[in-house]
Amino acid sequence: MQRKTVAIIGGGPAGLMAAEALAAGGVQADVYDAMPSVGRKFLLAGKGGMNLTHSEPYDAFLSRYGSRTPQIAPLLAEFTPEALREWVHGLGIDTFVGSSGRVFPTDMKAAPLLRAWLHRLRQTGVRLHMRHRWLGWTEAGTLCFDTPQGQQTVNADAVVLALGGGSWARLGSDARWVPLLSQREIAIAPLQPSNCGFEIGWSEYFRSRFAGDHLKSVAITVELEDVGLPASRKQGEFVITAEGIEGSLIYALSAGLRDRISASGKAMIQLDLLPDWPLQRVIDEVTRPRGARSWSSHLQSRLGLKGVKTGLLRELVAAADFADPLLLAHAIKALPLTLLAARPIDEAISSAGGVTFEGMDRQLMLKALPGVFCAGEMLDWEAPTGGYLLTACLASGRAAGNGVLNWLR
Ligand SMILES: Cc1cc2nc3c(=O)[nH]c(=O)nc-3n(C[C@H](O)[C@H](O)[C@H](O)COP(=O)(O)OP(=O)(O)OC[C@H]3O[C@@H](n4cnc5c(N)ncnc54)[C@H](O)[C@@H]3O)c2cc1C
Repeated sequence: MQRKTVAIIGGGPAGLMAAEALAAGGVQADVYDAMPSVGRKFLLAGKGGMNLTHSEPYDAFLSRYGSRTPQIAPLLAEFTPEALREWVHGLGIDTFVGSSGRVFPTDMKAAPLLRAWLHRLRQTGVRLHMRHRWLGWTEAGTLCFDTPQGQQTVNADAVVLALGGGSWARLGSDARWVPLLSQREIAIAPLQPSNCGFEIGWSEYFRSRFAGDHLKSVAITVELEDVGLPASRKQGEFVITAEGIEGSLIYALSAGLRDRISASGKAMIQLDLLPDWPLQRVIDEVTRPRGARSWSSHLQSRLGLKGVKTGLLRELVAAADFADPLLLAHAIKALPLTLLAARPIDEAISSAGGVTFEGMDRQLMLKALPGVFCAGEMLDWEAPTGGYLLTACLASGRAAGNGVLNWLR
């Protein structure tokens, strides 16, 4: 009997993992990608320190997928964060757990891992077809690709689509697959920025003086009382940008903030510039006599506040409140900031939205297109940074690959 062939379209972590599962199952796995090389976003992820997964307790890990936890949990059950680490070790790459619980390769880099992985994939017979942009299906139902040699068609016994989300289009994930699947009546939740920055209407003075500055050790409280939820508070750091704010603390809150802006046109947060100081201590220090000193040097000498933190107070606190020690102390502990819009999806670390789980069976096969499976960030889920993105991409890739094997049997 002729060996079955499976086309995997998209050579990011999800597609490569699907190819690995398929090759292990004895079928011919052909990976097609529009770019000149695979794994470009994976490599970029390694630039700032490749965060593979997280070591926190499994229940806490699962909760990071929010409302999609029920759909992601069965995928992770087959490829847990622990299994992911073992898989990385199997490629000859050691990992370590950072102080935050995040898991990294020992050298923090993605390139050696990708190199070792591609080597192993090729050895197991996986074939990579670069510069093959998928254009959809021909009328006869074969796959159609734009290649340097012109348009080509490919027949496969099954297909895994792992085309990525909608951020960082220049790395390949340009979401041009959305209309291709919509035309086939596949339900797709609109792609939206996730783990993204937000816009704030900074004054020209503040923007030119502080864009690029880091706010370290601050806390943000998001008020949710009006929607009947307790306020959410997180501590961390972020960066002032020309347009607003971005960085890990903002990303951690970004899904809720984005949804709030969609619902009501803006989102309010409160910034605590001295999260380790009780309010009363801040009041005591601010109200001490300041003599002939300026407010700036008073705040610096009594509270250690300077630079961008004092700049933010100047930017956001009315002059009259700034002159009132009690109001100023309260502003230091709860400085209101209004976020006007999420930054564009192309700048985001990842995207939310995508192929809905309702349109797929438990093996990630599209109900409307038997034999076509989907995996990775193109599915309708989101998660914060911390290794949760790659973990779910890899787990869904493996699930789709195994799903194809079951279906072919
Ligand atoms: C700056 C940055 C840092 C990140 N850091 C981390 C991190 O530390 N940890 C973490 O967990 N996650 C991180 N991520 C997120 C993570 O990289 C992505 O979630 C992950 O790469 C998505 O994998 P994927 O396989 O679903 O899609 P992708 O990696 O986007 O791959 C999709 C592939 O499909 C190809 N493709 C698209 N359309 C077509 C088409 N029509 N025809 C042919 N090929 C096509 C693309 O060329 C691409 O190669 C980071 C992302 C960014 C942008």
